[in-house]
Amino acid sequence: MLYSHGRLIEAAEQRGHRLDTITVADNAVSIPEPRPSATHDAVILRHGTTRTNFGMAILRQFELAGVWPLNPSAAISSSRNKFHCLQILSNNGLNIPLSAYSEDQMQAEALLQAVGGPPAVIKVLDGAHGVGVELCRTRADAIATFDAFYREEGNVMMQEFITEAKGSDIRCIVIGGKFVAAMRRQGAVGEFRSNLHQGGSAHPVEATDDEKLAAERAAQIMELNFCGVDMLRSDRGPLIIEVNSSPGLEGIEAVTGLDIASDVIDCIERRIGSVS
Ligand code: ADP
Repeated sequence: MLYSHGRLIEAAEQRGHRLDTITVADNAVSIPEPRPSATHDAVILRHGTTRTNFGMAILRQFELAGVWPLNPSAAISSSRNKFHCLQILSNNGLNIPLSAYSEDQMQAEALLQAVGGPPAVIKVLDGAHGVGVELCRTRADAIATFDAFYREEGNVMMQEFITEAKGSDIRCIVIGGKFVAAMRRQGAVGEFRSNLHQGGSAHPVEATDDEKLAAERAAQIMELNFCGVDMLRSDRGPLIIEVNSSPGLEGIEAVTGLDIASDVIDCIERRIGSVS
């Protein structure tokens, strides 16, 4: 069983709740099945990088039946598209790296100009774990990479490269609108991506007040009750690069020693208690 899933079950059961699991592998959705029973108070979608449509369909089925979602499907959809997420955050006054997107393969040069590159970072819009994220140091490299990603994935964006982040990012966990924990992830030697899946390592960090505030505002704006807000430490303060609606618990609990799973269950209890 995945660590995060197991921890959520453990924390829920410790408090006398029953947590039923519906997995992608051995289930199908048909309308109106599964019919969420009145005994379900809340629904949590844990999604990975692939086959997320099934999870979303199940989540919507529960939402339509009036079951409270920890993170609503609409909020998950907005946050999963990196460019849409950044549009929303920036429009609400949060700082992000310069970012540009086009559906026209011929616009690579214009995107590069818009983000002040090279260097520039090229990203697949719905990628995760650092897959489909590439640093291009020359104009030719940026144009060739944009072209290759475009052919493979279709939806690609370009972003200003934040050199001073030095291969590191800060992940802040926000639960029920409140900052609860942070860790610094550091990329392996010679790697600009700090993802643990790309050989990065997790370290304790004291988040600054600016970072805590940015994380809480991002979660509120994206309407996510449980999320990981990833940011880069730049010369102009924290720049948000992503809001993850299904953050892993293993790294953050190991680094901080905190019981994040119980904080998630607390958040659900507070919400359920307030409506019943
Ligand atoms: P994913 O969703 O796949 O984790 P991210 O957009 O978070 O993709 O990028 C992966 C990692 O690459 C980040 O955690 C960060 O360390 C690094 N990174 C991403 N964007 C930039 C950028 N604009 N400048 C510098 N480093 C970046």
